[in-house]
Amino acid sequence: MNSRRDFLQKLGLSALALHLTPLSGWANNPVQHEKPYDGKVLRVAIMGLGSYGTRVAEAMQSCTKAKLVGVISGTPSKIKDWQTKYGIPAKNCYNYENFDNIKNNPDIDAVYVITPNALHHDQVIRVAKAGKHAICEKPMSVNAQQGQEMVDACKKANVKLLVGYRMHFEPKTLEVIRMRQSGEFGKIMFFQGQCGFPIGDPKQWRLNKQLSGGGSIMDIGIYAINGSRYMTGEEPVWVTAQETKTDHEKFKEGVDETIQFQFGFPSGAVASCLSTYNMNNLDRFFLDGEKGFAEMQPSTNYGPIKGRTHKGELNQPVTIHQAVQMDEMAGIIFEGKQPVVPVDGEEGVRDLKIIDAIYQAVKSGQKVEIKV
Ligand code: NAD
Repeated sequence: MNSRRDFLQKLGLSALALHLTPLSGWANNPVQHEKPYDGKVLRVAIMGLGSYGTRVAEAMQSCTKAKLVGVISGTPSKIKDWQTKYGIPAKNCYNYENFDNIKNNPDIDAVYVITPNALHHDQVIRVAKAGKHAICEKPMSVNAQQGQEMVDACKKANVKLLVGYRMHFEPKTLEVIRMRQSGEFGKIMFFQGQCGFPIGDPKQWRLNKQLSGGGSIMDIGIYAINGSRYMTGEEPVWVTAQETKTDHEKFKEGVDETIQFQFGFPSGAVASCLSTYNMNNLDRFFLDGEKGFAEMQPSTNYGPIKGRTHKGELNQPVTIHQAVQMDEMAGIIFEGKQPVVPVDGEEGVRDLKIIDAIYQAVKSGQKVEIKV
């Protein structure tokens, strides 16, 4: 019981306690708040009212430290619907042409950019220039150079840049990280990350390089990349990678269908990962150490995340990922809270440097050195 309490305290008790879903084994016995939250609330405008933007908006209904107060969209009918649904005033509604005016709006603190990947760079820089904090979906942009420009623009404007790495706040994930940090797995030897799904509609932006910046690696393989870093606790120093393409019509030049990649880490640990837009049932992490292991499946979907270690089932609570993320991000922005695994722009750039190296390794067929 003590370790459970310690765990919750470490995680940020308030955010977690409020976001247990009914599926949670703990939902019948929720953690009690000492007192209701009466601190500063992060007032957020969502840019891009698509499928993930909608999920974030729904999740934010149960946030305590963050609130959806504005929208940026190119579709007037969507703006109207969201205004009605979430009580958003007309003065907090913008389109892609006029959203720079948000700088004159004192009622919005941050903009959450949830648009196609290749648009993130320019949009985040415009948000920074408007003097608002930027939260940006993964991948933060489509290459490391763009990512660095975003980091620099936010620094210059003195605003925070955070990336929507929701798994960095997920309880079972954090428990495996805690176990690894406390040596319960012994020396880490191997990580395996398998991420993918069949992509469907050939006309969607995810298969258009101009908007996606690439293929499965950008969209879903990034979970295995990011996961290999937070599960092992190390940064990869080299990568080898191989691409397989079965459908050249659907997956055009520069849009990868399936890539297998391997990392080497400074300790000598290795990783073997697969990213695909063409296979089912691929959402699995495996971490192997000299004294134990962790296996998670599903490992990164919206949940419930499931997993076990050599010590038994992981039974940490099931949460609404995006709600915990947004409350925790409010704490990072206003209280300077430090998450267990970073979610800042620099973290986003590290993943982009690795993605750049993976594409380079595929192209050259060579082992590529990585310097994050
Ligand atoms: P989506 O297609 O459902 O929504 C994209 C939105 O962007 C739409 O509302 C669309 O109208 C708008 N948009 C603005 N300009 C556009 C343009 N020029 N072309 C096309 N659409 C334009 O996509 P999504 O699934 O919501 O993904 C959006 C972002 O969120 C992506 O970066 C994706 O990687 C990320 N995402 C993250 C997660 C996560 O779990 N963190 C999950 C899904 C998506």
